[in-house]
Amino acid sequence: MANKSKKGKIKVTGEDIFPIIKKFLYSDHEIFLRELISNAVDATQKLKILSSKGNYKGELGDLTIRIKADKKAKTITISDAGIGMDADEINKYINQIAFSGAEEFLDKYKDEKNAIIGHFGLGFYSSFMVSEKVEIISKSYKDDSIAVRWECDGSPNFKLKEIEKEKRGTDIVLHIDEDSKDFLEDSKITELLNKYCKFLPVEIAFGKEEKTEDGKKIEKDKIVNNTSPAWTKKPSDLSDENYKDFYKELYPMTFDDPLFHIHLNVDYPFNLTGILYFPKFTNNIEIQKNKIQLYQRQVFVTDSVEGIVPEFMTLLHGVIDSPDIPLNVSRSYLQSDKNVKKISSHITKKVADRLKEIFTKEREDFEKKWQDLKVFIEYGMLSDEKFHEKAMKFFLLNNTEDKKFTFDEYEELVKPNQTDKDGNIIYLYTTDKEGQYSFIEEAKEKGYDVLVMDGQLDAHFINNIETKMQGKRFTRVDADVIDKLIAKEDGFESKLSSDDEANLNSVFQSQLPKDTTFLVNFEALSETSNPTIITQNEFMRRMKDMSKMGGEASFYGNLPDSYNLVINSNHKLVSELKDKMYDKIGADLEKFDKEINSLKTDIEALGKLQKDKKEEEIPQEEKDKKEELNKELSKVENDKKEILSKFGNSEKIVNQLIDLGLLANNMLKGESLSKFVKRSIELIKS
Ligand code: ADP
Repeated sequence: MANKSKKGKIKVTGEDIFPIIKKFLYSDHEIFLRELISNAVDATQKLKILSSKGNYKGELGDLTIRIKADKKAKTITISDAGIGMDADEINKYINQIAFSGAEEFLDKYKDEKNAIIGHFGLGFYSSFMVSEKVEIISKSYKDDSIAVRWECDGSPNFKLKEIEKEKRGTDIVLHIDEDSKDFLEDSKITELLNKYCKFLPVEIAFGKEEKTEDGKKIEKDKIVNNTSPAWTKKPSDLSDENYKDFYKELYPMTFDDPLFHIHLNVDYPFNLTGILYFPKFTNNIEIQKNKIQLYQRQVFVTDSVEGIVPEFMTLLHGVIDSPDIPLNVSRSYLQSDKNVKKISSHITKKVADRLKEIFTKEREDFEKKWQDLKVFIEYGMLSDEKFHEKAMKFFLLNNTEDKKFTFDEYEELVKPNQTDKDGNIIYLYTTDKEGQYSFIEEAKEKGYDVLVMDGQLDAHFINNIETKMQGKRFTRVDADVIDKLIAKEDGFESKLSSDDEANLNSVFQSQLPKDTTFLVNFEALSETSNPTIITQNEFMRRMKDMSKMGGEASFYGNLPDSYNLVINSNHKLVSELKDKMYDKIGADLEKFDKEINSLKTDIEALGKLQKDKKEEEIPQEEKDKKEELNKELSKVENDKKEILSKFGNSEKIVNQLIDLGLLANNMLKGESLSKFVKRSIELIKS
C-alpha cells in the first residue's frame, strides 16, 4: 500500500458541529474519559471475540488499558491493545460520524452483543470538550496493516499520515486545552476512574504501586478496576459474605452492613442484572446518602435513577446494569418509555417477592430487622398500589409489648374484644408510649391491645390503610375516655342532673388554662375511672397532624389546638364537689335561678304577644321592654357565672382535678406544674 498521507475535511451535517459539541452537547465535560476508555474496552473485547472465533490467530498478549497524564506536555494518553484501526477504518469510523463501527460490528457478532459497550452519543468526539488537539495513533490487528496517525484540532479539518508503530492497538492522545488543565491532575483522573471505570471488564492501569514479590519490592502498574464485580456473577457462586464485601466496595465510606440483598437477573423481555441492598433505613428518609448506581455493561452511567425505578426504590442501594435503558433522553421521556416502565415494575415485583420470601422463610430475622425496614415498606405501600397489595401480606403491626403481627393475625387477635356496636373493628394505637402511658394502661386493663405508630410516615399510612380496609378503624388511645373509645351498647347512669352539670361546667371552665381551647364534657363513667380526663378528637387531631406534615388540610392546620376536658360525673370527688357547691352557694344559686326563670318567662310571654306582628306593628314601648329584659337576663347569668367562678377558685380540688388531667397528658409544664406541686403538698397537709 502506498503512503496515503492526506488532509481532509470531516463530513458532518453542520460545518460548525465542534463548537456545539464543546459547549452544549455534554453538560458534564468529565465524561470524555469514560467515552474514550469505553472505546478502548470495546476494541479489546472485539479482539477477544475475534480470537475466540479463530478470526484472529496472533497472540493476545497484555490487554491492559493504560492511562497516562503528562503535565509538562499537557497530554492525557489512553492506550489499548485492541483491534486498532487502519486508514480506511479511521476514515469510515472517525471521519464519517454517521457510521458507527460498533453498530456494524454488532450486526456481525449479534450473539456477543453483551461484550460491547454501546452508544453514549458522540463517543469519541467528546474528547474535543477538553482538548485543543486530538491524535489517534493506531495499528490494526489485521496482518500487514500499516499504522496511521490522525490529527485534528477541533475544526472539521484533519490530517492523516502513515507511521511506524510496533504494537497492535490504539493510543488516543489528548492535548488538553488551557480551560481544562485541571484534568491533568492525577487526583482528578483518579477520581474520574473511580467514578466511571471501577467495574469495567478489562483491566485499566493508572500510575504505579509498590508490591512485594518473592521478598523483593517491585513497582507494578496500578490496576484501578475490578473486572468481574459481584452482579456479573451467578448468585449460586456468591456467599452472604461476598455480597457484604461488594456492598463495601460500592460504598467504602459506609460502615453499616445492609439488611438484605436482592440479586436481579433478567434476560427477557429486557436485559438487566444488578444487586439491590436494603440499608438500615433511618427514620429520616430524606437522608439516604448512598444511591443506586446505574451501569451499562459495567460502565458507570449515573447515580440518579429517578424515573428508572419507582421513587420509593431510590431509597435502596446497589447497582443496576442494563443496556436497555435509553440514556440520551429527558427524564419525562424516560418515564413514558415502554422498556423503562417494564423494568420499573419488574424491579418493584422482585423487591416485594423477596421481602415476602424472607418473611415466610426467616420470620424471626425479618421481625428483628422490621424497625429498620418499616419506613421503606410504608413508603412503597403509600406510593405504589401493586406493592401495597403484596406488602399487606408481610407488613407488621407492632404493639406496645413489642409483639409483631400481620394484618390478618392482628384482626384475629382483636376482633372479639375490640368490635364496636356498629361492627367496626377498632385498632387502638399510640404515637407516644411515654406521653400516652395512662391511656395505654387503661386500655390494657380493659383487655384491649394497643399498637405503636410513632414512625415518620405512620400518620399518612393510617389514613391510607383505613380507606382500603372495610370495617376497620384506627383510633388513638387518647381520643376518648376509655368507655367510649370503642363504643359499646351499655353505658352507666349519671349521678348528676343536667342542672348540676351546667353549674359544675361553669366552675371548671372558669379555672381552665386560657391559652388553649378546652371544651368541658360530662360523661357517666364507672366510679373507678379517673375523675378528669383530657382527650383530643381523633379526626381533628389527624387533620392537624397531616397539615403539619405538609398535607392539604391547611384549614385545620390554622385552627388552635383544642382538647376536651371530660369530667366523670360518677366519681366520688365530683359528687363531693357538687355537694360542697350547694352547701356554700346553693342559696345564691337558687336566687339566681329564680330570677333567670322569671326573666325567661317574661321574655317568652312578650315573644308570644309579638309573634304574629310585623316589625312596624310592634309598639316602641314593647321593643324597649324586651331589650331591657334581655339585658337583665344576661346580667343575672353573668352574676351567676361569677359566683360559680369564685367558688371554683376557692376550692383547691377544682384546679387539682384539672391539673391531674393535664398531668396525665403530659401537658402540665412550667409555672402551672410548680403551682400544682405546692397545692398538692397543702392538700396532703390539710
Ligand atoms: P461509538 O463508540 O459510539 O460507535 P465513537 O465515536 O466513540 O462512537 O467511535 C466511533 C468508532 O470508532 C467506534 O465504533 C470504533 O469502531 C472506532 N474506535 C473508536 N475508538 C477506538 C479504539 N480505541 N480502538 C478501535 N476502534 C475505535
